[in-house]
Amino acid sequence: MAQSQAKTIAIIGGGHNGLTAAAYLAAQGFAVEVFEKRDIIGGLCVTEVPFSKCGSKVKVSSVASYFGMMRKEIMADLSLEDHGLKPYLTDPIEIVLLDSSAGEEQFSFTPRDGGEAVAKIASATAADKAGWQAFWGDIQKAAALIYPRYLAPDLTQSEIVELLKKNGLDKIADHIFAGSLVDLLKQYLQSADLMAVAATCTPGFANLVGSVFGCIHHGTAETKGEFGAWGQVFGGMGAITEALAKAAQANGAKIHLGQAIKRLVVSKIDGVEKVSAIELADGSTREFDLVAVNADSYVLFEQLLAPTASTEAIRQYLKDNRPKVSAAKLHFLLKELPSLKTLRKIDHNHKGVIVMAPPLEAVVAASTQVPNGAMPDRLMMTMAFPTLEDQSMSDGDKPSQHVLTVDVHYVPARINGQAWSEADDQTLLDSTIQAIEAQCPEIRSLILDSYVVSPRALADDFNLASLSCWHLPMTPQYLFEKRTLPGCAHYETPFDNLFVCGAGTYPGGNVTAANGHNLAKHLIKKYSNSSTLTTAAKGR
Ligand SMILES: Cc1cc2nc3c(=O)[nH]c(=O)nc-3n(C[C@H](O)[C@H](O)[C@H](O)COP(=O)(O)OP(=O)(O)OC[C@H]3O[C@@H](n4cnc5c(N)ncnc54)[C@H](O)[C@@H]3O)c2cc1C
Repeated sequence: MAQSQAKTIAIIGGGHNGLTAAAYLAAQGFAVEVFEKRDIIGGLCVTEVPFSKCGSKVKVSSVASYFGMMRKEIMADLSLEDHGLKPYLTDPIEIVLLDSSAGEEQFSFTPRDGGEAVAKIASATAADKAGWQAFWGDIQKAAALIYPRYLAPDLTQSEIVELLKKNGLDKIADHIFAGSLVDLLKQYLQSADLMAVAATCTPGFANLVGSVFGCIHHGTAETKGEFGAWGQVFGGMGAITEALAKAAQANGAKIHLGQAIKRLVVSKIDGVEKVSAIELADGSTREFDLVAVNADSYVLFEQLLAPTASTEAIRQYLKDNRPKVSAAKLHFLLKELPSLKTLRKIDHNHKGVIVMAPPLEAVVAASTQVPNGAMPDRLMMTMAFPTLEDQSMSDGDKPSQHVLTVDVHYVPARINGQAWSEADDQTLLDSTIQAIEAQCPEIRSLILDSYVVSPRALADDFNLASLSCWHLPMTPQYLFEKRTLPGCAHYETPFDNLFVCGAGTYPGGNVTAANGHNLAKHLIKKYSNSSTLTTAAKGR
């Protein structure tokens, strides 16, 4: 314990960012307590056992399921591997399935090591293949330039553009905050089908501004020392947050589960507004010197804080910028491993990520349908069988059963202006199964049970009031210097002792842990005697 005058700090939310902040701050001698509303740690980065009602012990990564964005520096600082975090790479990495052309299967297949990537896409010419390599080479270079700065919240959009130009990445510089991925791809290739493959690499719509950054952000993934590679985690994504919780506890932090914070108590002393206490669901209050909120800003400003004049601009900003696009995750408990048509033909082992890419025109159509409250005509889906390579996720008593996990990339946050209903969940379930049937006509007969994490579950069960995967969208309007609350510096709020560290802060969403790390660094600088920093807390 390095700090002479330990400050008490409450962290609201036990998502991966809250836990990361807790681990760093506790290492520095802050007296940290984490309050998590759910009975399980992890927020969106969690492993659960959803099919116990039908007697199955299989586990699923309920919401986030792919590893790679977690910063390796944080993993090392907090000794997360010693606390049980074991990521792995799949072989192959991925296969992207497209609609067939003139009755011929179309796909792009990326092996892990050795063997060459194969693209069987009718419209792709030799020039396209060279353009494809050049495109991914440039995206990787851009990702490598940007990602080290995720751990220092001082990078601006114009600096990024300059940095890219200085490194000869002019095409990317011109499009990263001002163009679309489709516009950028047109500078490298002509095949619309190849563009449809690339369109699956950005979380947004490839024809809209912001999608280039989305592609680069995903390109910052690193698994087991392989830059650009996404992987998975033994034990599911919950193994990350369990390791973070252990690191925080080993450093002295206390973690309270099933402890919803109902309200922040604000007092005004000498004209300065301050959060003086937190109120728990049972009405009891606890006083802390500092409060950091991992829950999204919609929870903070619409649920936990009573409206005051000092928060009016922020509340209006949140109202005006309520995310219109969300995502969904579906888990299917299957009697046995299904066989997908294209995979069977090429003797694929069903490992790694299997992406179903809609044609580019369907992505373009979805980019207006979804923000306007309608389901897309065609679903963009990323699928995996996590039980295939990780025995700890399967039910040892029923080894033939498997889980198929499906990400539906974009769905409306609200359907025709209304919150998602049970009927909407059912529609999503039906259309997802129908989309899988294109590759596996017998899929319905294999499904024993299903678990749908729609925007309804994200709001009701995962306490994600924003309904956004990243607490705020990841478009230029909300990136880098613009990823702050109006009128506030990074991680700050209008209240002296109230801070934020969720995915809505710099550098943005996904399981990076950077936001929690950066908040901790900010507080350590603000409140600690820097000469007393521990190694873990100094670093970056
Ligand atoms: C469908 C979907 C798929 C995704 N897939 C991936 C993926 O594969 N890989 C990846 O890297 N990222 C993925 N993401 C994004 C990623 O999951 C998030 O960006 C990230 O997990 C956010 O972490 P966080 O710690 O900032 O917030 P959260 O995980 O949202 O944590 C906030 C916590 O605050 C708690 N809370 C809320 N209100 C209260 C209250 N009143 N009192 C106490 N606690 C409260 C919540 O219960 C929650 O635990 C996905 C997101 C979605 C929605």
